[in-house]
Amino acid sequence: MQILYHPAVLDHDTGPGHPENRFRLESFDLAGPTMEIPDGTEYLDLVHPQGYIDLVQEHCARAEPLDGDTRTSAGSFRAATAAVGATVLAMERGDFALVRPPGHHAYRAEAHGFCLFNNIAIAAQKAVDAGKRVLILDFDGHLGDSTMDIFYRSDQVAHWSLHQYPALPGNGSPIEIGAGAGLGFTINCPLPAGSGDDIFRHAVEYMLPAAEQFQPDVVAISAGFDAHQFDPLLQLRATGNFYHWIGKTLQQHFPGKLFAALEGGYNLEELPGCVFNFLAGVNGAGMPHPETTTTSGLRTWETYELYLHQAAGLLAQYWKF
Ligand SMILES: [Zn+2]
Repeated sequence: MQILYHPAVLDHDTGPGHPENRFRLESFDLAGPTMEIPDGTEYLDLVHPQGYIDLVQEHCARAEPLDGDTRTSAGSFRAATAAVGATVLAMERGDFALVRPPGHHAYRAEAHGFCLFNNIAIAAQKAVDAGKRVLILDFDGHLGDSTMDIFYRSDQVAHWSLHQYPALPGNGSPIEIGAGAGLGFTINCPLPAGSGDDIFRHAVEYMLPAAEQFQPDVVAISAGFDAHQFDPLLQLRATGNFYHWIGKTLQQHFPGKLFAALEGGYNLEELPGCVFNFLAGVNGAGMPHPETTTTSGLRTWETYELYLHQAAGLLAQYWKF
């Protein structure tokens, strides 16, 4: 798994004081495109209606915000389509799209939470249209509410999320397990504030059997790193060690099926180390940025287990744990 990167993603200017800014990716010190990245405009309508695509383009041309958190600039549309193009290419090559703006809070026809277009959902839909079953694992510290919503009634896409709960965007409770044909294909692992590496690993190991029984052809990873203990936006306590471990674990269970796209991660000093740890884990290399592993308190474990057993109790109708 290699990094796919295009400098056009730096041209999405969110203005002063915004946590989702170009410095997040400038801190990786990447000079130019890592390879030919296709423009993603032609893929947008796999998920988004044309009226919404036009609306985003018009807002970007006028540098008007799409919502309170989701600002745009003249370069934002090109950045967003470069992000989509890189994510689709990552899906085809099994690579890591190092992109912004992130995507997992972009609904079909509504921008939210720093996201214009849903990068991972577009790539997943392209794989579904080619007859593939797609597991989306979202380990960003926020629920990927919009990705979950887009596939909530699908049995071709399973959406598995680990996220702080309660926290923005608000939903992602253990009882949200999909609807219609998609019942059982939404798997939420809500994690209380203060959850450390031990809880993160437990949640992954507990739900892995369901993910394996789904028998995905493609495993799409919404790779956000704001669950890190020093991230300014959330109160989770994962370390870079977890990102190495989960990369290694996913590669062991789903060899050759992985690709990833960057979502959140707002601590500029920690973000590159987290990404490089994850890549090293997937690629079978040692951990380049080790940290001291974090453990969770008793009360945090108790709350976590309440959520877990509620989710597993409902999901046991569909999967064996
Ligand atoms: Zn996030």
